Amino acid sequence: MTPEMNPFEIAQRQLALAAEVMGLDATPHEFLRWPMREFHVRIPVRMDDGTTRVFEGFRVQYNDARGPTKGGLRFYPLETFDTVRALAAWMTWKCAVVDIPLGGAKGGVVCNPKELSLSELERLSRGYIRALGHYVGPEIDIPAPDVYTNPQIMAWMMDEYSKMVGHNAPGMITGKPIPLGGSQGRGDATARGGMYCMREAARALDIDLSQATVAIQGYGNAGQYAHELVSELFGSRVVAVSDSKGGIYCPDGLSFESVSAHKQDEGTVLTYADAAQACQRITSAELLALDVDVLIPAALEGVIHAENAHDIQARVIAELANGPTTPQADEILIEKGVYVIPDFLCNAGGVTVSYFEQVQNAYGFYWDIDLVHQRLDQKMTSAFQAVHRVAQQHGTPNRIAAYVVAVARVAEACKLRGWV
Ligand code: GLU
Repeated sequence: MTPEMNPFEIAQRQLALAAEVMGLDATPHEFLRWPMREFHVRIPVRMDDGTTRVFEGFRVQYNDARGPTKGGLRFYPLETFDTVRALAAWMTWKCAVVDIPLGGAKGGVVCNPKELSLSELERLSRGYIRALGHYVGPEIDIPAPDVYTNPQIMAWMMDEYSKMVGHNAPGMITGKPIPLGGSQGRGDATARGGMYCMREAARALDIDLSQATVAIQGYGNAGQYAHELVSELFGSRVVAVSDSKGGIYCPDGLSFESVSAHKQDEGTVLTYADAAQACQRITSAELLALDVDVLIPAALEGVIHAENAHDIQARVIAELANGPTTPQADEILIEKGVYVIPDFLCNAGGVTVSYFEQVQNAYGFYWDIDLVHQRLDQKMTSAFQAVHRVAQQHGTPNRIAAYVVAVARVAEACKLRGWV
């Protein structure tokens, strides 16, 4: 990543571009440039060897005008306050663009979960809730999984919170395991929501996805499900995937079953190339520059920047990651005519099913998978259409259009509350 701007400066810059297009007044603009509340905590954790390590944790509640704040929690070694602020801002716009009654938040702990034992991870997860439990909850702020966190971590956190408040409180967190009140369809929801956007984009651009080639950068939760779903739903050919160790390229197409089994066993996709025929190792940079129809960044922020945006050959970029493209890269992609489905629209499926999970927890009655898929499809399709309409009306790129739709909704809620 180049040091163009840090992620929070990027989020503020994107907001400024949209504010200009929509003629947002100076006061709401200034109010929406900053988080409403922030927490910075130290979490002491007893390690397996008997020593104590102190971890740094963050929670940023960006804006709650439209409802309790919502957003994931990352366990990530390079976490900073500003990354969490940016991600919390993007959550605010994300919940607004899919029109769910929630504000935006994000959390992070500076740690490398790959170096922690399961019981250390459990103590850290419980410690995070002991530090912040009084400031989260179903009516306040609802965490969820994100980079390097998972349903088991959500389960420990829900259990710790339930002990603190003295009753079972499944609705305080989402992305829980199904036996503890998780929703059907939450696992692949981020990728599936992105697929519904891709389907709509392909319609608008007259692209036949059954003939399309796809490259996926990142092979975590979002990337793996994207591999599975793009093949299953559209019959597209995934020719390249990568993870933090590197990538693989196979012009004939990569089978989801074999690559994901390899990732499960070996911890990386990279070594898959060694045994598979007609398959070669590539770097993550080479993956981004492949001549494919659709490129799916599904890992971390800032991967498409001023120095590599010129190399991109894909016709469509479906941003499953949060913040993968910097503003300078955006300008280059616009010039090149690349069609970008912007992050907080493209990856909003996860929080949409999180919202469904909360609704089910609140009335204690659970939906079947078909109902989840149907309602997710409705939400994503109407969000895509709203953004598409604004992009055409104002002649703006999709990212700005998505901001215009989302910011207008949040600004209206702030105004109705009499804030600004
Ligand atoms: N972490 C996911 C995101 O960035 C989901 C958040 C949630 O479900 O609250 O959208």
